[in-house]
Amino acid sequence: MTWDVTADLVVVGTGVAGLTAALRATELGLRVVAVTKTTIEDGNTRRAQGGVAVVLPGASGITDISDSVEAHVADTVAAGAGLCDENAVWAIVAAGPAAVTTLRARGAGFDGGAGELHRTREGGHRAFRVIHAGGDATGAEIERALAGAARGAGLPLLEGQPVTDVLFDDAGRVAGLALLGGGVLRARAVLLATGGLGHLYAVSTNAEVATGDGLALALRAGAVTADLEFVQFHPTALYAGHASRGRQPLVTEALRGEGAVLLDITGAPVMTGVHPLGGLAPRDVVAAAITRRMAATAAEHVLLDAMHLGDALLRRRFPTVYAACMALGLDPACAPIPVAPAAHYQCGGVVTDLSGRTTVPGLYAAGEVARTGLHGANRLASNSLLEGLVMGARTAEAVAADLMSLPRPGPPLPCCLVRPIADRDAVQQAMSAHVGIGRDAAGLTTALAAAGATSPRPLRTARDAEDAALTLAAAAVLAAATARTESRGCHLRTDHPRTAARWRRSIAIVLDDAGVPVPAASALVGGAA
Ligand SMILES: Cc1cc2nc3c(=O)[nH]c(=O)nc-3n(C[C@H](O)[C@H](O)[C@H](O)COP(=O)(O)OP(=O)(O)OC[C@H]3O[C@@H](n4cnc5c(N)ncnc54)[C@H](O)[C@@H]3O)c2cc1C
Repeated sequence: MTWDVTADLVVVGTGVAGLTAALRATELGLRVVAVTKTTIEDGNTRRAQGGVAVVLPGASGITDISDSVEAHVADTVAAGAGLCDENAVWAIVAAGPAAVTTLRARGAGFDGGAGELHRTREGGHRAFRVIHAGGDATGAEIERALAGAARGAGLPLLEGQPVTDVLFDDAGRVAGLALLGGGVLRARAVLLATGGLGHLYAVSTNAEVATGDGLALALRAGAVTADLEFVQFHPTALYAGHASRGRQPLVTEALRGEGAVLLDITGAPVMTGVHPLGGLAPRDVVAAAITRRMAATAAEHVLLDAMHLGDALLRRRFPTVYAACMALGLDPACAPIPVAPAAHYQCGGVVTDLSGRTTVPGLYAAGEVARTGLHGANRLASNSLLEGLVMGARTAEAVAADLMSLPRPGPPLPCCLVRPIADRDAVQQAMSAHVGIGRDAAGLTTALAAAGATSPRPLRTARDAEDAALTLAAAAVLAAATARTESRGCHLRTDHPRTAARWRRSIAIVLDDAGVPVPAASALVGGAA
């Protein structure tokens, strides 16, 4: 089926980045269509708990009056372990207040209401600057507001339509998208806002849709990607038992911001003497410390003691965490919460400039799938919703500007729907065993064998399309993790435990002529993309 939508822009993904872009592009007069492989609200955005990191004027109560954009930039750069692009950090952090104002005008309500907003702290932040909604249900409120605004604006939306390819015309211009089942969407510009790849791993905090589709789409379209080795593990996913697999509930870092303490199973503090910020150190530091303590105590989890908050405050301020604990029969007011690290966030992705442009004219990326240089080797907590809001709008503005000069594409050429597909379970087990917190050359080789054990098959089902994306994404992450022979940020090599000055640069990954992800000859230097 062909939808001859003659759209100016097709946005793939309806999370914070995709909907923000679609709404802004619509305001600018573009004909926009948004596509999602499931339903409008089904992505990581809806699951975000802690909040949005942003420096807002006005201070009282728990607000830190000494906060500033400079301080937020400094915390972001410190968390990024030498790989942030400081231009990107400045641009995105400084644009945060205006982006939040726009979001509130679109109907999102934050805790604190019409007056000064409540703010909390998360790992790596030296100030109380994380605004939140519904206690620990920030993402749900953002998604609700943006989806409502999209419906209100009459945004054309295709739900349940997995995108399988970016299509080109016979002159090599971006000309649209292929949908599973043979549908084609024609468009002058395509924005990938497809989120992350948490389900590369056996245990993840991510929504089930986070299967690396956008990364695979961009690589196959010829785009440059970078920083893929930096997969952030959240230190505190709820531990639900030895056999648990797939999506696990998150126990937000904001609990530690409100004084909860990490203990090992013997009751000894985990973070004492590890980092000056203690339990609020950047995530890579906390996740690595927990992993070491789990190994030392031969346990599959540590404990997060939040009992001092008491039943009433836990219910009111952290309703999502409270409900997830109670569903497992754990009362967080009466006993410490068992927690363990889980795959959480893709710090790298499709390389873009500060307007969402990829290296392929007509193809754009924003949100978790994109690599702007904001996160470097480790994302600062609650900077991703901020990035989605800022970059979604900036990308829409860039598309509007670029369409003035981008030549109109011809009809899209068909694409090949046969793909190498590895067994999902085998890939997830291998990635969890060998490409988590602590990697070495032998393990990376083993994982590469699992991702390489493929059989080319036609894409018949949504599961096939996701498995094909996971297969390619695994190979790309492995190419980057193998090339980086040092430890930095989220990338911890037990065979190269030191951080090396010569590796203070990003590794770009592209597909070679055989379709295999390889480091690009001209690796990116520093954060400059
Ligand atoms: C449990 C949890 C808690 C978090 N808490 C916070 C927090 O407090 N603060 C913060 O800043 N960040 C947080 N994050 C991270 C943040 O939520 C995400 O990085 C952000 O929401 C990603 O937004 P996005 O728009 O890029 O993608 P998403 O919101 O993940 O949306 C992706 C969209 O792409 C669609 N899609 C994917 N592939 C295809 C395809 N092939 N075809 C069609 N559609 C496709 C999906 O259906 C979905 O609509 C959290 C993440 C998780 C998982």
